[in-house]
Amino acid sequence: MADQLLGIFGGTFDPLHIGHLRTVIDVQQSLNFSAIHLIPNNVPAHREQPVLDAQQRYQLLQQVLKNVAGLVADDREIKRQGVSYMVDTLRDMHQQFPQKHLCLIIGTDAYNDFCQWHEWQDIMQLAHLIVMQRAGVAAMVNKELDPQRTTEADDLLNAKAGRVYVQNVSQLDVSSTAIRQMIQQQQSIQFLVPENIRSDLHILYKG
Ligand code: ATP
Repeated sequence: MADQLLGIFGGTFDPLHIGHLRTVIDVQQSLNFSAIHLIPNNVPAHREQPVLDAQQRYQLLQQVLKNVAGLVADDREIKRQGVSYMVDTLRDMHQQFPQKHLCLIIGTDAYNDFCQWHEWQDIMQLAHLIVMQRAGVAAMVNKELDPQRTTEADDLLNAKAGRVYVQNVSQLDVSSTAIRQMIQQQQSIQFLVPENIRSDLHILYKG
């Protein structure tokens, strides 16, 4: 399985935290992806705009991942500029890795709203979805996509795209919003973010 599946984890990462990192490692270990690309958006399409600019968010990601095997900091959405649509990113990945089965990793919050994503039907032609149950978020429900759910990891190999696989991950009730608020309130964020970016975050978000 190791060579065939390629993971894609997009986000705002404003900032990156252990809820992003530990959970993708759980996915990586369970499904044996050849790699997982963590892709910060340039201009997010479906939410309010981030506090840090795209380059800052990417550099923090790079700093954290430089010695982590199998996780890749990928700046393709920043290089592409403009609003970041996942469908464009997947088309690009498909061109670069035509043999791979692309697996888009999302939390349950994103899954429940997935049918509001730009050209979501095309996304399902390009990739499987790997859904991580996110702590503190309602159980996953998506009337359009639930019929595609499978509990068999082999289904991700048998089809090139279009299946929804639910992955158990560490339940870490952490969000970027909470981290930003804690910094504003001068609370400690120790052990919620990687240690090698913690002091940078205090400087960057204090404003
Ligand atoms: P914010 O609080 O600013 O909305 P966030 O913490 O939700 O940010 P994003 O960068 O927006 O982080 O999320 C990127 C992806 O990571 C989404 O698919 C989201 O569901 C998932 N994710 C974020 N935090 C967790 C977590 N604690 N556990 C599992 N998945 C998570």
